[in-house]
Amino acid sequence: MSWQLARRAERLNPSTIREILKITERPGIVSLAGGLPSADTFPVEAMRVATERVLREQPREALQYAASEGLGPLREWVAAELGSQGLQCEAGQVLITTGSQQGLDLVGKVLIDPGSTVAVESPTYLGALQAFAPYEPEFHALEGDGEGPRPEAVLAARGARFVYLLPNFQNPSGRCVSAERRHALVDAAAAAGLPIVEDNPYGDLWFDAPPPAPLSARAGVGEGGGAIYLGSFSKVLAPGLRLGYVVAPKAIYPKLLQAKQAADLHTPGFNQRVVFEVIKDGFLREHVPTIRARYKRQRDAMSAALDRHMPAGTTWQVPVGGMFFWLQLPVHIDATALLPRAVEAGMAFVPGSTFFPHGGHANTLRLSFVTASPEQIETAVAALGRVLAAA
Ligand code: PMP
Repeated sequence: MSWQLARRAERLNPSTIREILKITERPGIVSLAGGLPSADTFPVEAMRVATERVLREQPREALQYAASEGLGPLREWVAAELGSQGLQCEAGQVLITTGSQQGLDLVGKVLIDPGSTVAVESPTYLGALQAFAPYEPEFHALEGDGEGPRPEAVLAARGARFVYLLPNFQNPSGRCVSAERRHALVDAAAAAGLPIVEDNPYGDLWFDAPPPAPLSARAGVGEGGGAIYLGSFSKVLAPGLRLGYVVAPKAIYPKLLQAKQAADLHTPGFNQRVVFEVIKDGFLREHVPTIRARYKRQRDAMSAALDRHMPAGTTWQVPVGGMFFWLQLPVHIDATALLPRAVEAGMAFVPGSTFFPHGGHANTLRLSFVTASPEQIETAVAALGRVLAAA
């Protein structure tokens, strides 16, 4: 049989990161490549108690099909939580999704036609490029600086279906956009008539001070609003739950809901009920600060290790939240070519070019500081320093 693939299937490619992760599962290699949260932060006991309670008190509701919008009380919790962060919205605008990754796919399905333009940061989240690509957009790479995309670049993206932005502790670059730049970006998008798709899975993982209000707070998700906002429980509870959410203006919400229905009917009701049991009485107010404290220690360990071991010519910014350091190597060094040598030396990273919509930028790489211990970070960064010095 010769199978004829759909055009969109041609746009599906194996994730370089997942391929690398396979190699680095070998014992003896310290991987700083993964985008995983630290498993030590998962609230196992709270999950066990909540699971037992759900099975005892509401087993049949939890195991039945459920509404595509998501569990009512959980949607209300999300709306109230976002309100406290300056993003006013109603529970009726919250769509619970199977991870925020599904939110990206639904956004792509509803807003992208083949050949239409989508403006993205450069670098940007690889999973978003992968989610959007099958809908056959042209990616417009927004030029940026250390503070994020430039407002003029957003203005110049006029005509795109939307601009996809990650203001908080971006994956992969770790940078956080200042309040002034946020204002300028939202105003530029409004002036260009460009909807914003804001992705914020890392916003709660700040170290010293919370980030400025979301872009969506200024652009609006209400009547006539110009933003769609995506959030996730993956980094504050556990990614295996596959629980995220999309908040959308009423003009677009029904289409996202219909796309969601067609995709998987609804996000597992059992998971939604267990998570609501865990968080309903303020659990995250105590739990998230423990994650912040842990990740900050890890960030400090990596910052010190980089200071000790990176050869001259390699530069980075110290992230103020999230999970990643982003390194600029001397221009003659190709991080992809360097990776096999790094693995041989006992460590792994993700080459940066994979995060750029049009490739290039071979002299960049991403390091995660959350899954390795401070001692492992020291060993791995020292190994990277040796490999770089020899390059
Ligand atoms: N957006 C960004 C920027 C991410 O880094 C991730 C996870 N690595 C996601 C979305 C998807 O997260 P999830 O589906 O687990 O909510």
